Amino acid sequence: MFIYRARVFDTPRDPFTGGALRSESDVALVVDDGLIIARTDYASAAAQHPDAEVVDLRAGVLIPGLIDTHVHYPQIRAIGYLGKPLLDWLDHCALPEEAKLGDEAYAQALAGEFLTGLTSAGTTSAMVFGSHFASAMDTFFSQAAEVGLRITSGLVTSDRILPEPLLTSVERSVSQSQDLIDRWHGVGRLRYAVTPRFSFSAGQELLAAGGQLVADNPGIWVTSHLNENRDEIAGVADMFPEALDYLDTYDRAGLLNRQTILAHNVHPSDRELARMAEVGAASAHCPTSNSNLASGFFPLRRHIEAGVRVALGSDVGAGTGFSLLKEGVQAYFMQQLDPSGGLPLSSAHLLHLATTAGAEALELSDDVGDLSVGKRFDAAYIQPTAGQPLSVGLEHASSDDDALAKIFAMGTPADIARVWVDGELVKG
Ligand SMILES: [Zn+2]
Repeated sequence: MFIYRARVFDTPRDPFTGGALRSESDVALVVDDGLIIARTDYASAAAQHPDAEVVDLRAGVLIPGLIDTHVHYPQIRAIGYLGKPLLDWLDHCALPEEAKLGDEAYAQALAGEFLTGLTSAGTTSAMVFGSHFASAMDTFFSQAAEVGLRITSGLVTSDRILPEPLLTSVERSVSQSQDLIDRWHGVGRLRYAVTPRFSFSAGQELLAAGGQLVADNPGIWVTSHLNENRDEIAGVADMFPEALDYLDTYDRAGLLNRQTILAHNVHPSDRELARMAEVGAASAHCPTSNSNLASGFFPLRRHIEAGVRVALGSDVGAGTGFSLLKEGVQAYFMQQLDPSGGLPLSSAHLLHLATTAGAEALELSDDVGDLSVGKRFDAAYIQPTAGQPLSVGLEHASSDDDALAKIFAMGTPADIARVWVDGELVKG
């Protein structure tokens, strides 16, 4: 048993619906076998649990483990290509790298680098966009199980447009996906997600085969891309003349439900937002990627008004790294700059988008997302080096909301000293 004595920030009540930051400067979280069994003052906790090991974290700030709802495992070495729009970026930067994962040793190295990227950034749960190669997915799931993160992921499928090594057939996609589902879905903290790359590179039959996998395997997830870029959207409209819109290409294939997370949705129609809200599908908002590829301004206000769930994604490698602190501040910047009128965001909104909103999108809210009694202890401890600007900022912050804003403005993975999943240390 442990008592974590800390300054704790979290957002159990949604700031988009009247909630605010919950902050306490000296609180004791009593954690038994990974479960938070009490949240109280230190004297009471110590009196009730005299044998517990006390971990003093008052020199920094403890926040819930960060939750990344869109991040590509095969693209860790593709981070940092600048200056191309989506379809050029895919052709020149991402897809040549993704083709290398057919080599098992290569995939093995990448999986390790990728998981280190997540834990280093304080990410404890993620919807991970997988590889086109089943062997690379096996490697990834097996390493993710060892590290212990809460990972939802699956084999990426495409049967047109992409380079030949990345293409599959309907039959092969089904047999390989079902194999991976049987081996990994529900093992430890792993879950499976049917993952057509996007309708731009997946025909109706391939999408429908994914929908059949969802019907045959209750509880599995779906993830893909949606409405990222104008040229992509026009291409999908040409290829699916019978579909109502881009979203409908997934919907009519049986791929749209409450366990569906679609990345980007920068250019949705009102019908698409209404339909997403109706079924409970979530958007993964990836602001550094949207900025890097000049995809556009994410219509956060329209999502919130339509009742569509939104959480943050890093979109490595079009995004510029694994830090959800950076994604948070970039989301704030883009709402500030949006010429059509963005939604002003407070630091509490940013923490919500990076933690509780992700837990809701991934249906993990019963277990994680905030640091309340009854939740599992997934947490990140931010402790900047003394004398560095973030440390100075925290020392002189005018309020806890201000301190949290400084964490988003200046925090990097180097400032995240320790990370726990289910009470187990995965960094530090
Ligand atoms: Zn993506």
